[in-house]
Amino acid sequence: MGTKELFSIAADHAVRFRDTADSRPHRPLRDYATAVEAFAAPLPEQSSPMVDVLDELVTTAEPGLHLMTGARFFGWVIGGSHPMGVAADFLTSAWGQNAGNHTASPSAAAAETVGARWLLQLLGLPAGCSVGFVTGATVANFTCLAAARGEVLLRSGWDVDANGLFGAPQITVLIGDDAHTTVFSALQFLGLGHDRVVRIPTDDLGCIVPVAFEQAVADVSGPCIAILQAGQINTGACDDFGNLIPIAKSKGAWVHVDGAFGLWAQASARRRHLTAGVEQADSWATDGHKWLQTPYDCGYAIVRDELAHRRAMTISASYLPFASEGERDPSHYVPELSRRARGFATWAMIRHLGRSGVEAVVDGACDAATGMALALAGEPGIAIGNDVLLNQVIVRFGADLPPEQADELTKRTIGALQREGALFAGAATWRGRQVMRLSVTNYQTNAAEAAKAVDAILRAYRAERRDARVTA
Ligand SMILES: *Cc1c(COP(=O)(O)O)cnc(C)c1O
Repeated sequence: MGTKELFSIAADHAVRFRDTADSRPHRPLRDYATAVEAFAAPLPEQSSPMVDVLDELVTTAEPGLHLMTGARFFGWVIGGSHPMGVAADFLTSAWGQNAGNHTASPSAAAAETVGARWLLQLLGLPAGCSVGFVTGATVANFTCLAAARGEVLLRSGWDVDANGLFGAPQITVLIGDDAHTTVFSALQFLGLGHDRVVRIPTDDLGCIVPVAFEQAVADVSGPCIAILQAGQINTGACDDFGNLIPIAKSKGAWVHVDGAFGLWAQASARRRHLTAGVEQADSWATDGHKWLQTPYDCGYAIVRDELAHRRAMTISASYLPFASEGERDPSHYVPELSRRARGFATWAMIRHLGRSGVEAVVDGACDAATGMALALAGEPGIAIGNDVLLNQVIVRFGADLPPEQADELTKRTIGALQREGALFAGAATWRGRQVMRLSVTNYQTNAAEAAKAVDAILRAYRAERRDARVTA
């Protein structure tokens, strides 16, 4: 069995999987327990031919896959794994580069150097920022907050990288009450504690209330990290950066922005106003595998102060000299040493789409979200729970009924939709109530796909509502 045949078979399977997407349900056919059973076998004692193993992998795995690449996949916030990024990622695996440093793989490091430059331009961030290519926004938040922790303590005369947190000056962490759960995890990983924070009240859309923020900042003395958000996970709303960042900076706070998907509003002329002023922050976490459509996994930790970034992440001790001026060692900006060459897929996606293509992906998704919200709101009993400024839509079914009945009807409608499989959307709770959330982040979701999704949602809702009345 030659490499050529094996790789060709893998490519054929990939093509078939993607080309038949429209004819398969948007949900997995197997649950986890059944999937484990399908994979389970005693530890193989003997070798098996590679082609057989590949076939077995495909037949075993596919029934338990979610159609996350589909045009009507609105669960969580998931990008489409664009074919361009996937093809670049095939090669990344085949090339087998350990992208830890620029000597080990000059091209892997160089693709990150140029990819980083392009990203900063797309996102309207200062050209001097450093960018770590990480697994996702969770690790990007961790990385940026590590840089923040080190810098605010250093300014107070404490070297946390060398001496740890025991005995360090107290850091005040300000964070919005509707921040993403992974930011609290990042604080937990950093010894800052997920509960040892000052939670700032938020408004109906989950944005920090400016007067409350101002008050909290006024109470701060000593080192401070303020965490803002571009793209609340349920509403898509962004904090008022132009107002909040200068307030935080007046007290010398490090301002970090979790912009896993929302930061990409910066790439759209029509939506850039939503994130106005965000470039004044000190660090930003965002994802490639959401709106840039790279395959999993890919996120970016962006830090204004490169030295703070490198001090926090460099693998060699902080008292050793860094790589020479102008050279990039990817591992100096991320927690890992051995690592995937994520720069190739990023470079290929931006090279392919170009600035206008990225903008079209962002606007296409937002327009589809707005269109779906408008169409659904026209149906008696359906309420949209947020102003759809970006790509997230909160849907409540039976809004004319008592709240408990609406919760029930919402759950049942989501269940029916997931069973039918014409689209996938998940349940969430928002302000104590059951809702369905549509997250539109796929490059293929256009007006036609949105219309198909609306049809399916209305069909399911009407049927559930009718059944509910019969059983009532
Ligand atoms: C998705 C998301 C994260 C976490 O990102 P991962 O890529 O899953 O690690 C953090 N914050 C927000 C707002 C998100 O949408």
